[in-house]
Amino acid sequence: MENSPHPERSREAAQSKDEARRTADTIFAPATAPGRAGIAIMRISGPAARAALAALSCPVPPPRHAARARFIERATGEAIDDGLVLFFPGPASATGEDVAELHLHGGRAVVEAVAAALAGLPGLRLAEPGEFTRRAFEHGKLDLTEAEAVADLVAAETASQRRQALRQLDGELGRLYEGWRQTLLRASAYVEAAIDFPEEGLPETLDAGARAAIGRLIREIDRHLADNRRGEILRDGVSVAIIGPPNAGKSSLINVLSRRDVAITAASAGTTRDIIEVHLDLAGYPVILADTAGLREAGDAVEAEGVRRARARAAAADLTVLVLDIAKPEESAGLAGIVDSATIVVANKLDLICAATRAIALDKFPPGTLAISTAAGDGMATLLDRLAATVKERYAGAAGPVLTRSRHRAALGDCVASLRRSLRASLPELAAEDLRLAIRALGRITGRADVEDILDIIFRDFCIGK
Ligand code: GDP
Repeated sequence: MENSPHPERSREAAQSKDEARRTADTIFAPATAPGRAGIAIMRISGPAARAALAALSCPVPPPRHAARARFIERATGEAIDDGLVLFFPGPASATGEDVAELHLHGGRAVVEAVAAALAGLPGLRLAEPGEFTRRAFEHGKLDLTEAEAVADLVAAETASQRRQALRQLDGELGRLYEGWRQTLLRASAYVEAAIDFPEEGLPETLDAGARAAIGRLIREIDRHLADNRRGEILRDGVSVAIIGPPNAGKSSLINVLSRRDVAITAASAGTTRDIIEVHLDLAGYPVILADTAGLREAGDAVEAEGVRRARARAAAADLTVLVLDIAKPEESAGLAGIVDSATIVVANKLDLICAATRAIALDKFPPGTLAISTAAGDGMATLLDRLAATVKERYAGAAGPVLTRSRHRAALGDCVASLRRSLRASLPELAAEDLRLAIRALGRITGRADVEDILDIIFRDFCIGK
């Protein structure tokens, strides 16, 4: 170890050489899902994209125009497929590099033969996951929030997720953060100039102006962060806990809902047998219903534990459905503390009560309780409507862009903490350092560098050296 100088640095050098080699490669991958389909698209990006087309004996069509092509395996001269080819010369392409798209017949053998032919060409290799988007980011085609939006759009299962991802892909979120970063760069430029060039005699008011701008930004970011985690919840799905005393009908409810084939996107039973999750598309909103089983044993101690667990579960969920037995209103007493604006209370087993006494039976439950019967199917549509309305009310898209990942939240938290510190700093140099940290935190969200920008602003806004 002693004899190997700067092991860190040589590792870094090796890594960056590796990185350079990686990005000089031309990458290819099927852009469509594997399996039998009408069409499969093979995407190629990098400096050898044009040569790859020639190697498959297919023409290079005019930019962004489709051409008919017969793809031929060079080694054997055998035709692999008959399809279409498109060429997007860089930098005006999705990745910023030369990009070719081969539209093939979507069969496994066709895709595999084309992939094998491409893999045999010099400088070509199979793309790593996300590598096309990563190259788009590296070539300045997308910022990091937009790159994340590409992933979210591909993963979107419901309309609200799709809308949110598309807004982010359109750059709504990135623009907001970039706007804040510009505000900070400006404030920082004045502070830095006051430190570095005191002889310029910058007026005191600039400092007060910077303080005011920082204060305004803190309030704005705080407001943005106090969003009820709306964007993150929509992205992940709104979690709804089904809780209630043993035998009230929680499992029956989730079973009935999971059989409503219109609504379901996925259903899975947990390995622990304890939790069953059902994913629903509720009026365009992603909802994950979870039933906590295993709370059925009788006995006071166990019952108390059951209530404790139900409370914990409800606290962790975004919304709660409290299932009670309509014939046992007394059971609601122990759970009363759970009922809040995020709780929908249902009184189940309505079928056991004769029609004449239903209103009286319901009177014993909290106001707004819905009467249902999982056995007879009564009240299911109303329950789903209520659930959809509650989800919509709490998580519907607002006017402004919303943050969608904890990564954004953490970086904004760092940013605000640095800004607060900068206002308390005893020396301008310390304030300037805190501002740099705040700018870096914002830059981390969109993936932009920052130091050069500060210098740019200093030279643009001040006539230094005049
Ligand atoms: P959990 O312990 O809350 O999950 O309750 P279950 O869903 O396992 O149901 C407990 C018992 O109540 C079972 O025997 C169900 O068949 C019964 N049950 C559930 N829903 C209804 C209903 O709407 N009407 C009637 N009559 N029985 C029901």
